[in-house]
Amino acid sequence: MFTSINPATGAPGESFAELTADEIETKLQRAAQAYKSWRATDYATRTALLSAIAEQFEANRQRLAEIAVREMGKTLKSALAEVDKCAVGFRHYAQEGPAMLAPREIATSGGRATARWLPIGAVLAVMPWNFPYWQVVRFLAPTIMAGNVGLLKHASSVQGVGAAIEEMVIAAGAPAGLFQNLAIKSDKVDALIADDRIAAVTLTGSEGAGMKVAEAAGRALKKVVLELGGSDPFIVMPSADLDLAAKTAVTARVQNTGQSCVCAKRMIVHADIYDAFLEKFAAGMQAVKAGDPMDAATDIGPLSSEAQRQTVLDQLEMIQKEGGKLLFGGEALPGKGAYMSTGILVDVPIDHAVAKEELFGPVAMLFKVDDIDAAIALANDVPFGLGSSIWTNDAAERERFEREIEAGMTAVNQMLSSSPEAPFGGIKRSGHGRELGPYGLHEFMNLKTVLG
Ligand code: NDP
Repeated sequence: MFTSINPATGAPGESFAELTADEIETKLQRAAQAYKSWRATDYATRTALLSAIAEQFEANRQRLAEIAVREMGKTLKSALAEVDKCAVGFRHYAQEGPAMLAPREIATSGGRATARWLPIGAVLAVMPWNFPYWQVVRFLAPTIMAGNVGLLKHASSVQGVGAAIEEMVIAAGAPAGLFQNLAIKSDKVDALIADDRIAAVTLTGSEGAGMKVAEAAGRALKKVVLELGGSDPFIVMPSADLDLAAKTAVTARVQNTGQSCVCAKRMIVHADIYDAFLEKFAAGMQAVKAGDPMDAATDIGPLSSEAQRQTVLDQLEMIQKEGGKLLFGGEALPGKGAYMSTGILVDVPIDHAVAKEELFGPVAMLFKVDDIDAAIALANDVPFGLGSSIWTNDAAERERFEREIEAGMTAVNQMLSSSPEAPFGGIKRSGHGRELGPYGLHEFMNLKTVLG
């Protein structure tokens, strides 16, 4: 059984039975069957379904959002925004998908060729709890548009969300087996990846889970997209709008209680403005209100579980043991629920392994640098390469950051976030492949060359 625990109260929620081996087999057969007909559908059928799913998300937004709040503790307002973003994501592929799949004529020395985008089969998605709807939609909307079918192994803590997504897809009129939620533990994933009826796998989560899934995909010679952790730099240079940078830095660090792969986790600030930035940033971090996620006045809810909070507290303890200093906060809050206070760390021991880990909680690391070379070197001095945010009004500096920061994404004078239209993904140990936009759609398709 899976039983979700409300991280705001510690109270158990709904329970879900884990699928038996026979039930998994039935779902695989259903997926294979559904693929046979879905692959042959025209684009209008696919886009109509995507629009209908968007409508289901909109019609059920409050109920969907509340499930996420209960299962992983995000604030209701952010859960509602996430559900709304999902509807936008489905509509994006409904509107732009056909153009993304347009065949391309190519002149070759032997005559005419055409490159066509064709589906490949069932895609297995292994997904995390932090954006439990949006992470799934990033794979599901392109899967439907591609003519593929989808199977979801959602994080154990958000099984209610997994079931709700399946419910929305069915209510929108999807054929049986087009998208199925698999209530399974992670020990069943290897066998699924090895199964001939699974064509490819996509995972969002930790490095550890990514390595296991990539290993299994490698053994089966199947394509894998990995969207793993990040320790994104947020670099502030003297020409930046300091008020806006400091205000945005707070949001970028504490969004989702610090549990986003693209949270700004390391603030790297030029010495000339360091003190002024620190004053504004610290005031902003201290003003963040932790509390009941259902309350509209709350900025951050609890962490997603007691275990997740303990992980962060252990990391903070280790960093402090190695010389890091917490200016304030970074502590478990008394009482029920997995709450903790926001905090700022300075004097971080940058050569120690723990300082290079993903800190998945509302505590920022703050660094002072003397020039742009030091800023870039520090930004790149982690194994991750997911996002980054740079703050400067100097064109030459901007160009250097864009070219030299080792990351899949760089936001200039703004917070990094995902949008349905733009590619999303990382390099180094943040994974490989891209989600969203035409790039995410093309990842799991057969680009067939037709000669003649
Ligand atoms: P995990 O990476 O363990 O979970 C993500 C998904 O992978 C879940 O569905 C999980 O299933 C599954 N999974 C875990 N291990 C395996 C495996 N061996 N084979 C197949 N699937 C597997 O994240 P955690 O919840 O444990 O969080 C730990 C840390 O990971 C966080 O502190 C954070 O640093 C990072 N993380 C990063 C995310 C991101 O967006 N970049 C998202 C979530 C976590 P199950 O839940 O059943 O274990």
